[in-house]
Amino acid sequence: MVSITKIPFGLKDNRLVGLDEVESGLACGCLCPACESPLVARKGSRNTHHFSHYQRTSCPSSFETSVHRMAKQIIAEEKYLWIPRLELKKFKMDQYGQGVEERLLITEAKIQKFSNIQLEKVLDGVRPDLIAEFRNRAILIEIFVTNRVDQKKTNLIRRLRKSAIEIDLSDVSYSVSKDELRDLVIHGLRNKRWISLESYRARKKELNLNFKRKWDLNLRRQELVRQHRNTQIEEPIYPPARSLIRKKLENVPKGF
Ligand SMILES: [Zn+2]
Repeated sequence: MVSITKIPFGLKDNRLVGLDEVESGLACGCLCPACESPLVARKGSRNTHHFSHYQRTSCPSSFETSVHRMAKQIIAEEKYLWIPRLELKKFKMDQYGQGVEERLLITEAKIQKFSNIQLEKVLDGVRPDLIAEFRNRAILIEIFVTNRVDQKKTNLIRRLRKSAIEIDLSDVSYSVSKDELRDLVIHGLRNKRWISLESYRARKKELNLNFKRKWDLNLRRQELVRQHRNTQIEEPIYPPARSLIRKKLENVPKGF
C-alpha cells in the first residue's frame, strides 16, 4: 500500500531530486511535484527514506506524479534506452491436428540511442509521455505508474502507425532511489513492452507470406504421407494370419 503523502522525489529548482541530493528535513528546500507545497526529507534507514508533505495530510496524486516525472527526467538526461525484443508470431492448427508456426524477428533487445527527447508533446492528436527521436524516426514512450495505456490510446497510436513502448513502474515504492529508478527505466527489459510498431502492417504481411509458404509445404507433406500410407495398406504388411502360425507350430517336431 502506497502512502498518499510519502514520495521518493521532490521538486527543487524545477527539477526532480532524490534524497541523496538534498539536506535532511525542511532544509531540503523541496516542493511536492503535484501540489507544490513544502516537503520534508526524511533520511531514515535505507528502506524507509522518503519525502513527506510538511503540512498536507492528503495529496492523492503526489506519488504517481513524483515517479512519473522523475522517469521522464531520467530518459531526457540519459538519451538512451534498452528496448525489448520483439517478434511477431503466427500459429494455426492444420486439419490433421498438426500445428504450423512461423516467427518474424523485428528486433533483438538492444540499446537505442536518441538524438532528441520531447516531453508531453502532442503528435497528431495523441500526447505520449515522451517522444524519443533517432535518425528521422521516433519511438513514443509511455510511463506506467498507476495507469496502464488504455485500449483507446493504443488503438490511436497504432492507427497513426507509430512505434511505442510502455515502461511499467507499477512495482516501485516511495523509498526507491534515483539510481534504482534509473536502472528500471533505462536498463530494465522485463518491465517494458511494445504497444505499437510503425512498420506493423508491412511486417505482418511479410509474416503472413512466410506462413503461407510453410503452410502449403506442410499440407503437401501431409498429403504425401497419406498417399504413402494408402499405398502401403494395399500391400501385405500385416503379420501372417493366426491359422498360418498355428500350422507352422504344428509342424514343429514334438519334444522341442
Ligand atoms: Zn502534494
